[in-house]
Parts: sequence; C-alpha cells; structure tokens
Amino acid sequence: MVTQKTTRSATRKRSKVTNDVLAKDILDLPLLPIHNTVLLPNLVTPLVVGREQSLKAIEDAMSKDRTLFVVTQLNEELENPGQDDLYTIGVEGMIDRVLKMPDGTTSVLLHGQRRLRRLEYTQHTPFMRVRAEIVHEETERTLAVEALVRAAMALFEKCVKLSNTLPEEAIITAMNIDQPGWLADFIVSALEPPVAVRQSILEAFNVEERLQKTCILLTKELNILELENQIHNQVQLEVDKNQREYFLREQLKAIQRELGETDPAFRENVELSEKILSSGMPEEVKVKASKELDRLNATPSMAPDGGVIRTYLDWLVSLPWDNASVDQLDIKEAARILEEKHYGLEKVKERILEYIAVRKLSENMRSPILCFVGPPGVGKTSLGRSIAEALNRRFVRLSLGGIHDEAEIRGHRRTYVGALPGRIIQTMKTAGTINPLFVLDEIDKIGVDFRGDPSAALLEVLDPEQNHAFSDHYLEVPYDLSKVIFLTTANVLHPVPAALRDRLEVIELPGYTEEEKMHIARQFLIPKQMKEHGLKPSRVEIDDEALHHIIRNYTFEAGVRNLEREIASVMRKVARKVAEGRRTKTKVLAEKLTDYLGSEKHYYGLAEENDEPGVATGVAWTSAGGDLMTVEATLMEGRGNLTLTGQLGDVMKESAQAALSYARSRSGQLGVESRFYEKYDIHLHLPAGSIPKDGPSAGITMATALISALTKRATRRDVAMTGEITLRGRVLPIGGVKEKVLAAHRAGIKTFILPKRNMKDLNDVPREVINELHFVPVERMDDVIAVALHTSTLSKDELEQMPMTVNAVKTRRVIAPKATARKLGANPQTP
Ligand code: ADP
Repeated sequence: MVTQKTTRSATRKRSKVTNDVLAKDILDLPLLPIHNTVLLPNLVTPLVVGREQSLKAIEDAMSKDRTLFVVTQLNEELENPGQDDLYTIGVEGMIDRVLKMPDGTTSVLLHGQRRLRRLEYTQHTPFMRVRAEIVHEETERTLAVEALVRAAMALFEKCVKLSNTLPEEAIITAMNIDQPGWLADFIVSALEPPVAVRQSILEAFNVEERLQKTCILLTKELNILELENQIHNQVQLEVDKNQREYFLREQLKAIQRELGETDPAFRENVELSEKILSSGMPEEVKVKASKELDRLNATPSMAPDGGVIRTYLDWLVSLPWDNASVDQLDIKEAARILEEKHYGLEKVKERILEYIAVRKLSENMRSPILCFVGPPGVGKTSLGRSIAEALNRRFVRLSLGGIHDEAEIRGHRRTYVGALPGRIIQTMKTAGTINPLFVLDEIDKIGVDFRGDPSAALLEVLDPEQNHAFSDHYLEVPYDLSKVIFLTTANVLHPVPAALRDRLEVIELPGYTEEEKMHIARQFLIPKQMKEHGLKPSRVEIDDEALHHIIRNYTFEAGVRNLEREIASVMRKVARKVAEGRRTKTKVLAEKLTDYLGSEKHYYGLAEENDEPGVATGVAWTSAGGDLMTVEATLMEGRGNLTLTGQLGDVMKESAQAALSYARSRSGQLGVESRFYEKYDIHLHLPAGSIPKDGPSAGITMATALISALTKRATRRDVAMTGEITLRGRVLPIGGVKEKVLAAHRAGIKTFILPKRNMKDLNDVPREVINELHFVPVERMDDVIAVALHTSTLSKDELEQMPMTVNAVKTRRVIAPKATARKLGANPQTP
C-alpha cells in the first residue's frame, strides 16, 4: 500500500519537477535494485549483494566509471524485480569498494551522488540498464529555508540527546553541512525512517519541501523519544524502589542476625519457628503457620500488625495437635472408680461401663454422645470427671449457659480487633491433649438470637462426620475434634434443639431420696468437706438426726448441692472453734443446728398447715427437679368474671377455664350454690407470683381449689395432686411423674393423687418413696374431690374462726422469701 501511494505521488509531482529541472544531463547506467533501504545523495551505505543480475551490474560498473543507477524496489519481498517493480527516482551511486565475503556474497560500499530520474530501460538481461536524467534541485536559500534549517537542527539535537542509538557526533556532522538539502538527507538517513518515507524525501526535489518533511519527521521522532524516555524513567523508578527495599530488608535481616542474642522480638520469632516445627501440626497447618511467620519477620517489631500475627501464631503452637493420652480401658478399674466416687446411680454406672467396654472392643467405633439429664446437683458433671479418670483422659468442661452468639463457639475472624478463637478451641488448649473428655454443660441453656445460632456450631462439634475438621473463624485452619469424647449435660431436655437432641443418648438422673442423700452425705460430702476444712474425724461428728434435719429443714432440692453447702457451713464453724483452741471433739446435734446454720429455711411437712377451703396442693415439674405448687381460689361479689394471676402461660389459663366450666356444668351434683357465676367474681392465684408457669397438669388442682371455695369444704393439705382435666371431668395423664413424686415426698406429703394411666410411671420411683406415700389413681374429677376435700361443709362460725379463709393469701411452706427464688430456680412446668 505504502509503496503504491508513494508511486502515485511521485507521478503526480513529475510534471512540476519537470519544470524545476534547469538542465538535462542524460546518463546510461547499469541498474542496481536495492530493498529495505534508500540510498540518499552524499551518503555512504554498505550493501550486501547476492543476486546474480546485481552482481553482473556491479561487475559492469567496476569495468567502467564505477557508477550505477541505484533504485529501491517497490515491493521489498520480490527476489527478481522486473521493470515495473522499481521506483522511477533513484540515485547515482559510486562504488567505493567491493569485498568478496567468505559465504559467497559480495559487500559493496556505495556512495550516493546525484538524484536521477529513470527515463527508459535500455537493457534487460543479464542485468538491467537505464537511461536516466540528473535531477537538478531547487536550492534557493530563502528565509523560510533558513528558518527550517534552524528548526531542523534544534530538533535533531534534542533527538540525539534523547536517543540511545544516535551518536553525539551526528550533531557535529550536521552542523558542518552547509547545504540545506544535504542536511535534510543526512538527518533523514540518520533517523532511519521506513523505506517509503525515505523515498519521499528522495523525491522532494524542492529543498524547502524536503526540510519541512524532515522537520515533521523529527517532531514525530522527538515525541516518540520523549514518551519512551518517560516510560523508561517510570520503570527505572519502580525497579530502583524494589531494589532499594530488597537491599534494606537484607540489611535488616543481617542486623537482626547480629542482634539475635539480645533482641527479644527476634528471639521470640526464632522460638516460634522452632515451636511450629515441633508442634506436630498437620502439614497444611504448618504451611499456614510458616507463611504467617514470614509475614511476622517482614513486619517491623513495633507495628500493630506484628502483635496480631504473633498472638495468632501463639495460639497455633499452643494448641494440642498430636499430643494424646493413652486410654485405659480396664473395666474393673473403671467400675472401682465410679463406685468410689458416686453413691447409687446403678443404672447410670452400668451404662457408662458398657460404653467403656464398647470402646475397648472397637476403639474406632463412633460412640454415641451421652447426655446426662437431671436437676442441678445430682452429680452429672462429677460423673463426667470420674469417666475421664477411669479412661485416663484429661477432663475439660465448657458451660454453655447463656451463650447466644455463634462466634462464642466458633470465634471471631482475625479482622476484628482483639479477636480470639471460640470457646471450643480455647477449651482444647486448656486440655493440652487432642483426646480429652469434654463435658458440654447445660446444653439446654444455649440461646438463639440475631447473633446466630450457636447450636449449629455445636452440631458440627458433635457430628463425627464433620468434627475431624472443625472450623474456627479465628484459626482459619481445620482442627481435628474427632478423638475427643464428648459428654453433655442438661437440666431438662425440651429446650434442646431437636437436631442436637437426635445425636444424644439420654441418661436420666432424676434426683435423690432423703435416704440416698443421707448416704451421699455420710460417705462423700462430709468426708470431703472435713478434708477441705482440715478437720480430722477425731475433731467433728455430725449425728444422724442433725444430718436428717439439715436435709429436711435447710435444703429443698433434688440434688445435693445445697446440702454440701450447708455441711461446708457447719465445718467452717467447727474449724473456727478448733482454731480458737477447742481440744474436744465437736458433736453437731439436731437441737444445736441453729447455732451453726441459723434459723431453719424450710418447714418440712404440712402438719402445721390448716386444711382450709379454696387452697389446693399441686405438684410442678421444674428444671431443678419437682416442687409443690399451691393453687388458691377466692370468691368475691361480682358478675362471674374469672381473674387468673401468678404469671400463667396460655395452656395453664385454658386449663383454668376448663376447670371453671366443669364446676359450672356440675354445680348441682357438687352441691354448689346455683348460678354462682352470676353472683361472684372468681380469682385464681398461683404463688409464687413472679415465676412464670405453664402446662396442663395443674388442671385438677385448680378445679379442686375452685370447688373447695364454692362448696366451702376444706381441702386436705397433705394431699398433693397432678393431672389434666377435661370439660366433662375426666382426668388425663401428665408427664414428669417421677420428679413430682420425689418433690411431694421431700415436702412430707402423705397422699398423692395421680391419673390412673400414670401409675406405670411409678416403676421408676425408688421403693422407699413408694412405701412412704399413699397413691390414689383417679380417672374422674369426682374421685379427686372425694379424696381431696373434707366431706363436711364448714359453718359460718368455723369459717370466721379460721384466719386462713378463702380470702387469705399465705405463703405456704417457704419462710425466707429469698429461698423461694433459689428453690424454684427455673420456671415450673406442669406437663
Ligand atoms: P450437676 O453437674 O448435676 O449439677 P455436680 O456434678 O456438680 O452436679 O454435683 C454436685 C456435688 O454433688 C458434687 O460435689 C458431687 O460430688 C456431689 N454428688 C452428686 N451426686 C453424687 C453421688 N451420687 N455420689 C456422691 N457425690 C455426689
């Protein structure tokens, strides 16, 4: 394309040029076609000649006056260009020297003379000859030419200064050229533009035009050079910066090496790297740790980032990765330990021994996750501790009570300020081995809220499919929990999310009877507390009656935690006496207990309670075991409104409505004043009023209180009852029988009314409790009333004599209000 264009422009200018020609000198010369370059007048160019016809042309020229018509090919690729493949304008070339090269080619040094125009070909073979005329250039030194010369010189100088290829001497040569046309030719040949551009310079016979073209070319070249320089400088700057940093860092390292003895930060880093190697981390973790260590080494010791990385690495190296304890799977030894530390609990112990036996036979089998469910203080956690001892494993415990945030289990990402691993990983660090016995306490107390669901994280912990690569947000590397034995504990099972519950094998610990508590105290709690208070058996003795008294009048619980606390109080007082110098043995007697423990906290039994109308004794099931729950009913003049107080849940409210409807529908048979609901307002209250209660099982108790108030027949207070009521007066079965019976027994109840279909549940209740209680199975409300209410109606006088009448509200059994809250613990349920 370029060549064609050039040819056309050359042709266009010809007519003008013809006029410029002042005289015609015709020459007959051999033709030397060249490619890739253009020979310009006054300039010397070396050429390598290989083509046959070219060699012949040179040979011919050498035999005469050494001149040739040197012309450039239009198409550079052509091997043997014909007549039409060459520019018309060429140069008269003088051969300075011809050298034969070893590879057979010939090197020719050509010196450009004058511009020539080809007129016609005079010969074609063996080489071409032409007739050509000398072009006379227009060389008038006008002002414009002068200005162009200066501009060209200035531009050329700049180009030479910026360029790496143009030699400085080129400026001197240029300054010494006095012909403007020649100067243009020299500059163009020095800049080495493309062939077409050079040819166009060759064809610019007018010197002013040629200089203009040269200036344009120079400006373009200068722009390119400047840009090139700019890029080069930028690159250089970047390279310099990197090099400088590298150099400084190497120096820093050398200095640190020198200071190795004294620089604590550096020494710490070295220690860290040793710990990484010896920690037994899996390869993947090691790679991560090493990377972080490199980052730490590259961070200045004062930078805040350094602290964050160091803390992270400290966590990584201090976690157990392959440090494991050796399991002891001796069943006899395990049985001995369990027996030594725990009284009773035969079924539980048996199950634990089976668990150990299975592990012994197949160590890799995925054991189920045991979950001990029972009220506080029945020994759930201490059982875990004994299992750990029996298996020779480290024991760790994590209380989940009140954890709402998934991040507490799984940790915070390191991007948070002050981030730490989650509780699981923290506890593993405490354990120091990868196979501890890990008790997750109170899994019923984890909460779900906007901060995420911690139970989802727990699922991952407990799932044998996933827990070999537990992910903690802070650690960022998987941690293997598969060798851990997990145990869980809960007070009640129903708040535990179903997905979690599915994974657990539940073992229930319902609570102890008085007799069991006596044994536990004698065999375990008293010796333990004596030891802790530094007392020998020769110094102190608690007699049986006193112990019994403590259990009945100072504690009211399913477990033995408060009992242990009270025993500790006694021991403290005794220890003080011993420290004050008492030498004789202290005997703690029942009648002296107030000296040790203050006044009694609970009344045992209901002997002192009056049987009165409108108050019935129910039993509730709480997370702390079971408890008695009084229902009070009172009548006031009014219009049949029913008021319910005592923080009752919806189910319990509906149950109260059902009791009322039953009483109304059966008023005739019950001997209740007819249309009572048009004359009285009814108020049902369940103390303690501040504790929320729910469930249907107080149905018959509410109905009894109501009917007692309506009929003015007193209720027997030593009768406790539980059961759901229907509108037609049928009594339906309920849950939690075992806990409720134990609670009634604890409270000194003599008669226990329960739905007939619940009688089978009594199989789980200890024998001595069954023997001490009279059970009345009922199917209908009539049966309840027959047992619970006195037959005779109280007269008006009798009613007035009683301080505790239908209007009275009396806190039944509990003396100290503080004890109420403690005793009830969590919400009573009456399932
Ligand atoms: P939980 O975890 O169920 O709340 P703990 O395991 O903390 O109960 O037990 C409270 C205290 O009662 C501990 O000192 C424990 O040794 C003692 N204890 C509970 N049950 C028994 C038992 N059967 N034999 C001996 N000590 C017991």
